[in-house]
Amino acid sequence: MERSAFADRALTRRFPEVGARLPCVRLCDLPTPVTRAEKIALEAGTGPLFVKRDDQSSTLYGGNKPRKLEWALGAAQAGGRQRVMTFGGLGTNHGLATALFAVRLGLACHVVLVDQPVDAHVRRRLQELLAVGAELHYGKNLPGAALQALRILARHPRTEIVPTGGSSDTGVVGCIDAGLELAEQVSRGELPEPARLYVAVGTGGTAAGLAAGLALAGLRTRVVGVLVTDILPPNPRKLDRLARRGLRLLARAGAPVEAKRVALELELETGHVGNGYGHRTERGSWAVELAERLEGLHLETTYTGKTLGALLVREQDRDEPVLFWNSYSSVHPEGPLPDWPDLPRPFHALFQTES
Ligand SMILES: *Cc1c(COP(=O)(O)O)cnc(C)c1O
Repeated sequence: MERSAFADRALTRRFPEVGARLPCVRLCDLPTPVTRAEKIALEAGTGPLFVKRDDQSSTLYGGNKPRKLEWALGAAQAGGRQRVMTFGGLGTNHGLATALFAVRLGLACHVVLVDQPVDAHVRRRLQELLAVGAELHYGKNLPGAALQALRILARHPRTEIVPTGGSSDTGVVGCIDAGLELAEQVSRGELPEPARLYVAVGTGGTAAGLAAGLALAGLRTRVVGVLVTDILPPNPRKLDRLARRGLRLLARAGAPVEAKRVALELELETGHVGNGYGHRTERGSWAVELAERLEGLHLETTYTGKTLGALLVREQDRDEPVLFWNSYSSVHPEGPLPDWPDLPRPFHALFQTES
């Protein structure tokens, strides 16, 4: 993994001056393909439906996180940091991606975890986190996580903090790049300009960055962020702020961008969280089943199922082209998993009561 400004990122094609100034590490294989999901569209009665295959963003672990980490870990490395810390639910995709890539770059990675509903997938995720070299800390709830974070910082003051979901200013830049990348695919004729783009909202950096990137490229596509969390859920103002922080960082790096003036087509769709973050909903599970059966797309019930479910309901009986942003990795770490007793003691209880 070299450190460089890439000629082959949409962002650096658009703003060559930024490529020279914002540090970045190569973690992704871009662009990710766009495919058409005709069978789902037919069955659900939507207009032409396209899928951005960001599940394939990296050969090690895909989804939306590696895009953010290219810039967030690039900044950590350029700043001479040797250790990063991040946060997530027990089944965190973001924590796994951060630990996996940080360790490969030679950085230590602390992951502080809070509760979410425990199932086989979550238990496996804890073992995967351990396998890729994460140092795990059980915070249980938000105050507990804050306490753990303070302890780690007291021991290692020069730890780079990667916020939950990777939605730092640098992380958002990676998602602006993704928006510009999609715009290039539209201009190459790989898909028509989508009327709406549906993407899951956890911390909101992905939706915000995409909206900013599409706006910079002059597309009229509206980003519909589907809220899937009730743990510090972002509101529309927060999404707007995230987008502008990313834009301001680009401006500081020399891009001719007026962060205040960029007109964002971005909305937050609520009503799909169900009983909370990580809890299944009927509509979400239906969408996961449909995607698997008709297109062989592997979604999950925490983010992408709820998002596709929202799309299918809202686009029913409409005929404009729309895009589903597949933010869930279809690549998973391989190799033997450690046994759960190897996890730090506080996690053992999660394995001793089977449910
Ligand atoms: C983290 C995650 C998201 C949410 O991205 P945010 O930028 O935090 O809103 C969406 N989908 C999947 C699969 C994720 O892991």
